[in-house]
Amino acid sequence: MAVILDGKKLKEKILAQLKQKVEKLCAKPTLAVILAGDNPASKIYVNNKKKTAQNLGINSVVFEYPENVTEKEIIEKIDELNNNKSTTAILVQLPLPRGISAKNVIEKIAPEKDVDGFTPYNFGKLFSGEVPIVYPCTPKGILLLLDEYTIEIEGKHVVIVGRSNIVGRPLSQMMLNRNATVTVCHSRTKNLAEITKTADILVSAAGKNIIEEKMLKSGCVVVDVGIFKDENGKTRGDVDFENVSKIASYISPVPGGVGAMTIASLMLNTVELFEKQ
Ligand code: NAP
Repeated sequence: MAVILDGKKLKEKILAQLKQKVEKLCAKPTLAVILAGDNPASKIYVNNKKKTAQNLGINSVVFEYPENVTEKEIIEKIDELNNNKSTTAILVQLPLPRGISAKNVIEKIAPEKDVDGFTPYNFGKLFSGEVPIVYPCTPKGILLLLDEYTIEIEGKHVVIVGRSNIVGRPLSQMMLNRNATVTVCHSRTKNLAEITKTADILVSAAGKNIIEEKMLKSGCVVVDVGIFKDENGKTRGDVDFENVSKIASYISPVPGGVGAMTIASLMLNTVELFEKQ
């Protein structure tokens, strides 16, 4: 049976260390979150982020906007936060309401306050093999989790399913920087199973239940990023956990895996930005 990559446990460990660090800082970091629209999942995520930050002694301010907010209003708020000295980190909760371009909004965030590492400056640094001010939270959390279990990355074939800007794309670069051989798959990939069969480390971020035991080689490491509700309303990931855990060497659960690590990374990034300002 596979060893469980316990994101929840590692998150608690990271947050406990961070809390002690925050206590010793000369001032409190402030994380500003922009939440626009009525997406119920976004509201839950933002609430969790706010509570976690406050538990660590980090200030967290949420700016809420209705579904019909304009791009201009959000950009004006970002300008204001960029110029506000006491705001040290800015996060725009995605997705934004229909008609608002996430790209236009995110590129307005000052790179030194870009807690998600999504601005063109930070992405550009990452994609040119340099060090961004901070790394995007979900890929950073995945690497922290693999490192905690001393899973070797260098020289391994890492197959990533999904090429979104928040997971697959930045993770591919971070894995490349760690000297992995990286293959990125997506919805137009032909013969997905033939490729996943060659993975030493498989990371799936499709948001669909697509990864089955027969698509993997025995002993591979499986990281499940996907999180959604199945037809019975049960939270699950992309991977058939029950059967895949019989052949994998390590596997991350959903929930309690990558999701927990994403929150931990966000808090780490909030403190890192504060320290760099
Ligand atoms: P997204 O933007 O919808 O991207 C999904 C990716 O999966 C796309 O690149 C898509 O290909 C690919 N894909 C879809 N169906 C596929 C298939 N049948 N075979 C191969 N590739 C397929 O989603 P996202 O924002 O990256 O999120 C993905 C999942 O991860 C969601 O369940 C989300 O909730 C979860 N997530 C979790 C965390 C966390 O902290 N746990 C963080 C972020 C996301 P195309 O590019 O060709 O469309």
